[in-house]
Amino acid sequence: MKVVFLGTSGYGETGKRNTVSILLNDHILVDAGEGVTRRLLKRICAKKITHVFLTHGHMDHLIGIFPLLWQYLVVDRRTEPLNIICPDYIERAIKQIFDLTYFPLSIQKFTLEFHPLDVDREKQFHVTIPNYEVDAIVLEHQPACVGYRFNQKYHNETGKSFVYTGDTQPTNQITTLALKTNLLVTDCSFPSALSEDAHRLNHMTPLDAARIAKDAECARLGFIHHPDYILDHKTEILAEISRIYPSNNVIFCEDKMEIII
Ligand SMILES: [Zn+2]
Ligand SMILES: [Zn+2]
Repeated sequence: MKVVFLGTSGYGETGKRNTVSILLNDHILVDAGEGVTRRLLKRICAKKITHVFLTHGHMDHLIGIFPLLWQYLVVDRRTEPLNIICPDYIERAIKQIFDLTYFPLSIQKFTLEFHPLDVDREKQFHVTIPNYEVDAIVLEHQPACVGYRFNQKYHNETGKSFVYTGDTQPTNQITTLALKTNLLVTDCSFPSALSEDAHRLNHMTPLDAARIAKDAECARLGFIHHPDYILDHKTEILAEISRIYPSNNVIFCEDKMEIII
């Protein structure tokens, strides 16, 4: 499975990094941060996207869906269906934005199929798409954030798996979702010294992520949604977590980075 980080910044853009978006095997988009359309166009992947999975409604994860849909509607005049899997409140938000700007999605040419997850009633979901079984779990964030596990399937045989938390506090559910995965990519918004702030604001630190990766026996751990200054302290952070989880298996995700799992 090829994992490409189109954007890795949390909260907002930086001079070097877009907000979070991840591309799986050139056709599955996970979160849609700012700048995602141009990053996809540069990779000649924009038209290949068949499924978009969105974790939650904060704009650093969502704002890129609007220019991407606009591109499909107005520039590409797309005819192939597009599937969007997301917490149900996001479907309403996307439709309302297009309605309020006099460009309702309902009159467009291509089939835009939403698969809303009823996050007020259910805490776990399962979605089947071609070649993947996808598990989704509601994690600890406001508004509700869904973490995803993508299990690749070949001829009924289980292949590699990839897990992405979106934004969340550390919870036991992440350990369940990430059990023995090939790559766990987690929220890493604060340094470990600020863990109280991180948890109060529903985010995680490198130590939180390392504990989960150890408990879940993850083969590799990637940090995302980190501020630029965390990248200046890689050595200290790796030393700090190495007592818990092998630092050789840790990746500080950066824009345009590609990982094969
Ligand atoms: Zn965020
Ligand atoms: Zn958030």
